[in-house]
Amino acid sequence: MLLTHTDHGLYCAAGDFFVDPWQPVGRAVITHAHGDHARPGSTAYLCAAPGEGILRLRMGSDAHIETLPYGATTHLNGVAVSFHPAGHILGSAQVRVEYGGETWVVSGDYKTDPDPTCAPFESVPCDTFITEATFGLPIYRWPAAETVFAAINDWWRANQAAGRTSVLFAYALGKAQRVLAGVDPSIGPIFVHGAVHRLNTAYRAGGVALPDWSYAGDAPPNTDWSRALLIAPTSAQGTPWLRRFGDVSAAFASGWMRVRGQRRRRSVDRGFVLSDHADWPGLLAAIAASGASRVLVTHGYTAVLARYLRESGREAYELAAPYNGEQLGEEVD
Ligand SMILES: [Zn+2]
Ligand SMILES: [Zn+2]
Repeated sequence: MLLTHTDHGLYCAAGDFFVDPWQPVGRAVITHAHGDHARPGSTAYLCAAPGEGILRLRMGSDAHIETLPYGATTHLNGVAVSFHPAGHILGSAQVRVEYGGETWVVSGDYKTDPDPTCAPFESVPCDTFITEATFGLPIYRWPAAETVFAAINDWWRANQAAGRTSVLFAYALGKAQRVLAGVDPSIGPIFVHGAVHRLNTAYRAGGVALPDWSYAGDAPPNTDWSRALLIAPTSAQGTPWLRRFGDVSAAFASGWMRVRGQRRRRSVDRGFVLSDHADWPGLLAAIAASGASRVLVTHGYTAVLARYLRESGREAYELAAPYNGEQLGEEVD
């Protein structure tokens, strides 16, 4: 086995490196900067070049980070390693590992739907494909992004007419920038929470086109918020920070909004189905396109997807991850 499951995470013995390790290790090859994939404390990190800025923001200024452009190959102890766009967030990559005539691809998190804030998913042929399964249930099918953004714009306009501030909760890394890039900025002013502000700035530095926004913390006390859209991380929900914005309508942009009951559970007025992960048809299409004879399934609904693949005649297994099952925490939608 080119990559094996260990208690520190996925390990390549031939190359002596880990992919998205759960514990500090010597060399960590990172698919993307989300907290469940990039953890601090490793001696050296290797990531796709477009992800360097946000990985550094997360790992700290003294972290040792090396990068490779998408598609370029490096050799770690004779094992060929390259990064290929995963379409999930800025710099997100599938890690291709080739050694002894065998090719593995670790998908990390990915989506096949278009997203103006990151490079589109690229299918990479391999023998073994390690796929995520965050939304690996047949009920998860995403509406077209244009439909979702039209609904967000309508909600924002209706709130303006009613004199209410539009507060849209979205994960700070990836989703918030995708929301910013997708809404109609001519409707009114856009303000963001500090966590979103820092990441927006890193996205812009990385060459991603975003409409202008203002950091809410810099706004004068007499600001009229009633025409504004405020983008905030889910961690700001129910905090005193929200009080200054007056009468608000709160919404949540997430793949979890696909399921009835989640809107009430998250205590928001509106839910918009917008995910940075592949939906069920997207997962199946990516797996088929990889041409892999063996599929390992990790993160999320692993049992359901692995069983479905086996029943469709494919060799498929579950691969243990630190968190499995339904995930509703920060940065996993
Ligand atoms: Zn992620
Ligand atoms: Zn993840």
